[in-house]
Amino acid sequence: NNLMYNIFFQPVSDVVPMKEAAEKALRRLGVELLRDLVFYKPSSYHISDVSSDFSKFRDGMLVQVNVNIDAIMQPKIRRAPTKIYTSNDSGTLALVFFNKIPPFVFARLKEGVRVSVQGKVQFFDGNWQMNHPEFLFKKELQKPVEPIYPLTYGIINKQLYGYILSGIAALEVAIKARQSFGSVALEESLYIKNLLEEIKSLHLVNAQADASYIEKAMNFATKKLAAKELFANQASLARLKSQEKSAPGRKFQIAENTKEQILAKLGFTLTDSQKSAIAEIELDQNSSSQMMRLLQGDVGSGKTLVALLTMINVAYSGAQSALMVPTDLLSIQHFNFFQKALDDSGVKSALLTGKTTTRERKIIEDGLASGEISILIGTHALFQSRVEFRDLGFVVIDEQHRFGVEQRLELISKASHPDVLVMTATPIPRSLTLTMFGDMSVSQIKSKPKNRLPVISSITSNEKKDQLIESLQKKLDAGEKIYWVCPLIDQNDKLLESGEEGIFADVTSRYQELEDAYPGQVGLLHGKMKAAQKDEVMQKFKDGILRILVATTVIEVGIDVSDATLIIIENAEKFGLAQLHQLRGRVGRGNLQSYCILMYNPKFLSKTSRKRLEIMRSSGDGFYIAEQDLILRGGGEILGTKQSGEAEFFFANLGQDLDILLQANKQSLETKFSEFTNFQTRLFNRDRGSELAKSG
Ligand code: ADP
Ligand code: MG
Repeated sequence: NNLMYNIFFQPVSDVVPMKEAAEKALRRLGVELLRDLVFYKPSSYHISDVSSDFSKFRDGMLVQVNVNIDAIMQPKIRRAPTKIYTSNDSGTLALVFFNKIPPFVFARLKEGVRVSVQGKVQFFDGNWQMNHPEFLFKKELQKPVEPIYPLTYGIINKQLYGYILSGIAALEVAIKARQSFGSVALEESLYIKNLLEEIKSLHLVNAQADASYIEKAMNFATKKLAAKELFANQASLARLKSQEKSAPGRKFQIAENTKEQILAKLGFTLTDSQKSAIAEIELDQNSSSQMMRLLQGDVGSGKTLVALLTMINVAYSGAQSALMVPTDLLSIQHFNFFQKALDDSGVKSALLTGKTTTRERKIIEDGLASGEISILIGTHALFQSRVEFRDLGFVVIDEQHRFGVEQRLELISKASHPDVLVMTATPIPRSLTLTMFGDMSVSQIKSKPKNRLPVISSITSNEKKDQLIESLQKKLDAGEKIYWVCPLIDQNDKLLESGEEGIFADVTSRYQELEDAYPGQVGLLHGKMKAAQKDEVMQKFKDGILRILVATTVIEVGIDVSDATLIIIENAEKFGLAQLHQLRGRVGRGNLQSYCILMYNPKFLSKTSRKRLEIMRSSGDGFYIAEQDLILRGGGEILGTKQSGEAEFFFANLGQDLDILLQANKQSLETKFSEFTNFQTRLFNRDRGSELAKSG
């Protein structure tokens, strides 16, 4: 029965009674199913210090303190935080609230009143500060026994902990019921018993309030859960592969002449790296086993052309190829390039996005079903079940980290066993390829097309902004093009939880400012615009009608305008290295000298972000930058999954858990698949879309 322990997949509010506001807050934390709730990991466990002595504070420490309220400063501008200045004998502490303080709490806060607060302290601008503290009106200071969870507005720690405890209680009841209901296999019974114990240790159920004990118990529980999670991941990949193995292999012929024609048409000579990458791919294409290959090449190294030329082989063998890209903009750009290159080759390509009209779509679907269309380019719309290929033989995934595992598997499962090529600018550690695809072979593009000059980067404070705007005139006079990147769309943009107005630059105001200075030459591009609007702006920028493009990071991936020679990135201190490198890769794509200006807000330049900018300034080597990124930030962020919001693992940390992963991989290869293995893989499958569809 597929109702096995179904309680895990029930919407959390069906199991734990709660108001709608709380349900919404949980959703913001990514908690929708009971499984998400009991898997929601505390960020820390114990209050480091319950003394009220500020000299014992360390940055980031969780504390409880007694303080006097000295002054309450309500914001004068909308969206600015409320600040409550407090102190005791050992120093001053500012309590900062970015959201409205609930009226019943606020009513109790008066100047001169003594309060107990709990929260994380940060040293900021020379003072201790605590954001969103919890007031402990009734309780005296005490050694806390609660885990501390990452929170959002609309929910407090105690409340969330309460839900988790109710959730665990409900789980226990459901599990008991199943186990007493019928005979349960020993293996299953053990697994569930351990799982429940691990979940309980994670949330300190039954634990003692001894700090060092707690820390150990939770680390242990997390590792155990990570092992279950990685096994689930490897088991689903192993099952997929075993299905593929039963299908016969296939070979593609190599279409040498057409390739030469296309290169001549483009006026390109392949770089040595492109040549050897193509040779490696063709070796796979010409063998009868399935290709699982990763193509790593720094931004601007010419990966698209490698994809195109190897797709030609597939087309000439009578099969079809699909190129999956993460954004509409990128799919259009690739399509235009393919159209130009394939012009009189007889190979037909088509573009399919979420914005394709029903009529066009029907025509494309027919072309795919008949085999008339050899190459399909598109975004996730490719996955929609109505899209049927006559014979899909080759799947290329560009800038793969934007796709969820589930989506990748879905496209691959459209054909019995297509060859798969994943293209990426970021070197991907083995632990990641193992969890994404099982093992893969790797090709690298090390050199860039000839005549490329390295981009010259500089770092500057945002106080120089006006001067910079003036100086753009020179670039425009020289006929060059400019990108201007800001993190926000406007000051209401919640993208970055900035809190205070004016901390981060937004494209809406910058566009106005630049348009005032250079009327008629400035374009605006951000994710909230309609696809047609985006294309139009992009096209005008390409054609040179617009010369300055003010954009959010929508231009981060893949955008190719070869005569853009300057990119200005505001609040560069806010971006990760991988992202900065991708952004900078938008220039330096032709034979002109290009520049990158990394602007920072001096108020928010931490030591680490200073270091990051320094790395960017001194190196243009994507591999080196990725390596430094790993060192500065740890494993999980290398793919930029944080920014793209792709689900990461609940428990596994790929930077640390390679040994657990290798174990899980081995174990998965020895596993016989049963209904219970299905449950295990489903339990850790983070893809919400499919899970909700099943339960809903
Ligand atoms: P990326 O590896 O970042 O995806 P692209 O495929 O977008 O890089 O290629 C960057 C630019 O270089 C594009 O304008 C592309 O047409 C061009 N290009 C690719 N290969 C060559 C080549 N062998 N000679 C000249 N230009 C090339
Ligand atoms: Mg690319």
